[in-house]
Amino acid sequence: MSKRCSVDHKLETGKLAAAYWAWYPEPDVRVAYKTAYCVKHADALLSIIKKAAGHAVDSDLHDDGTCMACGEDLSGGYELTWVNAYMPGIEAIAVTLEHCYTHATSIRAEITEMGERLKDRDVSKSGAPASSPWASLFSA
Ligand SMILES: [Zn+2]
Ligand SMILES: [Zn+2]
Repeated sequence: MSKRCSVDHKLETGKLAAAYWAWYPEPDVRVAYKTAYCVKHADALLSIIKKAAGHAVDSDLHDDGTCMACGEDLSGGYELTWVNAYMPGIEAIAVTLEHCYTHATSIRAEITEMGERLKDRDVSKSGAPASSPWASLFSA
């Protein structure tokens, strides 16, 4: 089991936080990544989680949504990214990131760059993307 921080790629002796990211670039294509954070770099994850937690996502009323990065109105389209975060000694946290296309693309590029791609496990069975934030509870 690798114990490298995804931010600085150094081997860590302490416990790492882990985050699992998933999104659908195409309706039937699921992309999943894992990132890990040492305690020094956990802020990179925490700031996203905290922002998402304070940003209500209403999966039934997306026309009321705004991008959690820039506040842009998302009535013209939105991008969801699911995150499951596991921090040592803390209960698992599941959040859904709601972004405009630009900000979804930039955060995904960052995760793609630093993280480790996971194999698709369930996409062939589940088919269409899950539209409910509750689905992320079952996808990790
Ligand atoms: Zn680190
Ligand atoms: Zn935005």
